[in-house]
Amino acid sequence: MTSAFPRLSRIFAHTALLPEGWADDVLIQVDEAGWIRRVTPGAKAEGAQRVAGPLLPGMPNLHGHAFQRAMAGLAEQAASRDDSFWTWRNVMYGFVGRLGPEEAEAIAAQLYVEMLEAGYTACAEFHYLHHAPDGSPYQDSSEMGQRHLKAASTAGIGLTLLPVLYAHSGFGGREPDPKQRRFINNLSLFRNIYESLHKVATHKNELQLGLAPHSLRAVTPELLQEAITGVRALDKDAPIHVHVAEQIGEVTDSLRWSGSRPVRWLLDNHALDERWCLIHATHMDRRELEDLAASGAIAGLCPTTEANLGDGLFPAVDYVRAGGRWGIGSDSHVTVDPWTELRLLEYGQRLLYRRRNLLRPSEGGSVGRFLYQGALSGGAEACGRPIGALAEGKRADLVVLDPECPVLWGKEKDQLLDAAVFASGGKVVRDVAVGGRWVVQESRHPLRDEVAARFRGAIEHLKGA
Ligand SMILES: [Zn+2]
Repeated sequence: MTSAFPRLSRIFAHTALLPEGWADDVLIQVDEAGWIRRVTPGAKAEGAQRVAGPLLPGMPNLHGHAFQRAMAGLAEQAASRDDSFWTWRNVMYGFVGRLGPEEAEAIAAQLYVEMLEAGYTACAEFHYLHHAPDGSPYQDSSEMGQRHLKAASTAGIGLTLLPVLYAHSGFGGREPDPKQRRFINNLSLFRNIYESLHKVATHKNELQLGLAPHSLRAVTPELLQEAITGVRALDKDAPIHVHVAEQIGEVTDSLRWSGSRPVRWLLDNHALDERWCLIHATHMDRRELEDLAASGAIAGLCPTTEANLGDGLFPAVDYVRAGGRWGIGSDSHVTVDPWTELRLLEYGQRLLYRRRNLLRPSEGGSVGRFLYQGALSGGAEACGRPIGALAEGKRADLVVLDPECPVLWGKEKDQLLDAAVFASGGKVVRDVAVGGRWVVQESRHPLRDEVAARFRGAIEHLKGA
């Protein structure tokens, strides 16, 4: 399916965001396999394809559960006086009961097309819906994972697939809840799934495999260690993502179980580094925050989902000042555009501190650019792939801003990113390439209608079932 996307080889941008900053008249050469071979600022177009607007590196989306896109809007009905993350989770458990491989693939393809049209060029799929509705493994135990690979290939997005290890319903190895039966694996079943996906993912430029222990609630310390050892034996740099400290209740339970808060427990028991991504990490004390920042691990922030679920605010100002790395994800996909995630990340802090322009370089400067570049760097690291920069040796994952978007008129360089993040409403992308192929042109994915028709079919099936 990828061959449906036109290849690019030499492109010329009037202005482009390079790792060292904005540059004019940039010629980018891309080889047949989709790698950036040369970036030359101050060049002449000399027959290269001219892009229509300002050129940016494509944004990685470091966290999400694709099937939840089909639930967006279904969990906003107040059921009781005390709706919370935990009551949302019950809606989700009910929803997955009706979802099979066909639907999972159709929903993921729809989501990935929407992501591309919004400017995400890669995503990390935190994949925990493994088994059939009765909890038994599919004939190929990696069936659901394979469906996500197919969906990503149909859409043409880069994928970091993170099969989830989920074994328990609470700290200390509590028996799983029957409602979690589609997610639950023991170590040997998990290994089968992982190894079979590993065979497919190896040597593919647009794919990376990694490990996702669901949370400290869902694994015991011994199981976590064994899973890490097994995955590292296959790929020593495989990314490891874990949900952590999303809810106050989780922090309280962790303290009761181990005497440590969740982020502290991870810091004390594992050598966290840039191969680790801690999803949410919302509730940290000062020492946890400083030690996490010093570890090099990435904080995976999902501002619109965290707001939707009432998680609380990540201490972004303190974490950034401590030198912490971070990226953005869309998690439950109530929102599918990077601009809105970045805007809400900054706005949360403004509302908290009653100040403006908080997430910024220490010497001052553009908030939009600081947010965009911070999320590129942390997101690329968390995806474990050579993406996130217009530079030699990276994948040619590109976003061209739409010069016809009125909010961009009269803006230059950093102002373009400030306008895109704070004033565009997310509709600001014209063209998108992944691995040197145009997957969105003139704001449209070529398979948009076909993929949407399958998605509609999946939704009708879910409603009728
Ligand atoms: Zn999540």
